[in-house]
Amino acid sequence: MIDTWDKLKGHEEQRDLFRRSIAMGRLSHAYVLAGPAGIGKRLFAQLLARSVFCRSHELSELTACGECRACRAFSAGSWPDYIEVGVPAGKTAIPIAAIAGEDGKRGREGLCYELSMAPQASERRVAVINDAQMMNVESANALLKTLEEPPADSLILLVCDNPDTLLPTIRSRCQIIRFFPLTAATVEEILIAEELTESAEEAASIASLCEGSLETAQQLLHPELRQLKASISRQLAQFEAMQPLQISGKVIEKLEEISSGTAEQRQNAQWLLRFVADSIRERLKGVASGDLADPLTQKLGAKQGVDLLAPMLESTIRASSQVAGSSPVKLVMEALFDDLASQFRVASRRV
Ligand SMILES: [Zn+2]
Repeated sequence: MIDTWDKLKGHEEQRDLFRRSIAMGRLSHAYVLAGPAGIGKRLFAQLLARSVFCRSHELSELTACGECRACRAFSAGSWPDYIEVGVPAGKTAIPIAAIAGEDGKRGREGLCYELSMAPQASERRVAVINDAQMMNVESANALLKTLEEPPADSLILLVCDNPDTLLPTIRSRCQIIRFFPLTAATVEEILIAEELTESAEEAASIASLCEGSLETAQQLLHPELRQLKASISRQLAQFEAMQPLQISGKVIEKLEEISSGTAEQRQNAQWLLRFVADSIRERLKGVASGDLADPLTQKLGAKQGVDLLAPMLESTIRASSQVAGSSPVKLVMEALFDDLASQFRVASRRV
């Protein structure tokens, strides 16, 4: 028998917490599942709902078979007692229509209305609100009424990156369950299991950079960002004089292309610099240990190789903190590649 919870990595403590509440008969009507973006909170909420509906287990087991009528209907999106809302595509907020019905049908459709009806096929109705922090004031106030007097057989799960951004009146009527970033080992495991990358090396590198967020890991795996990283690595691997202006020009152009605004550009630039720092650091380790597979060791020897790479690493880390601050990305990139190229030139003269 399948345990559908196998899909979720980590967050065992939080599942146990719900199990204990159920065993003690203390399941609340409303919870905020809070924690950083991209770590599996939404999946957790869906699995929780599914376990409430699954016919082949006791509720206290908090598991779902994936095979019974309820599980199959849930997978197909047709279980009548489940409601899930979020920010509609192309919108920037959860509209009142989703919570309390369209104009003219206000109070006669939407999440609150459905929750107020007796369950059709199970003992409870379960509602999941994704990105709950994106409810506008109207939506939040409509939900508040339901939270003040929740229907007896309802369970409301608000999935939220930052509970501090919810209305205090909403927050105080929910139990807050905190979720924590995934460990690097877990991220690595997911990247390989979900075939997001085939390379174990890349999975490890991304896992060390993404701060426990699968969403960040996926952004880091953006094909253009990977290409850019590969092309910079190639440039750095060559011993010949670099063309700093050409590289920085290309990097800036690409960053603009793949980022939708200056904030995203700054974020992408930072990731890129961390990649570069990471690859220099790896290389430094190899050269320092006298790894002859690296042409740098062959040409310069371990000591001079380290003398070249160590300041390059420093320059890259410095550039990264400048980008994290408020320095213009373009200027930082230009200065960095100029700096790296001159370090290369100085080293080549010694050969
Ligand atoms: Zn089932």
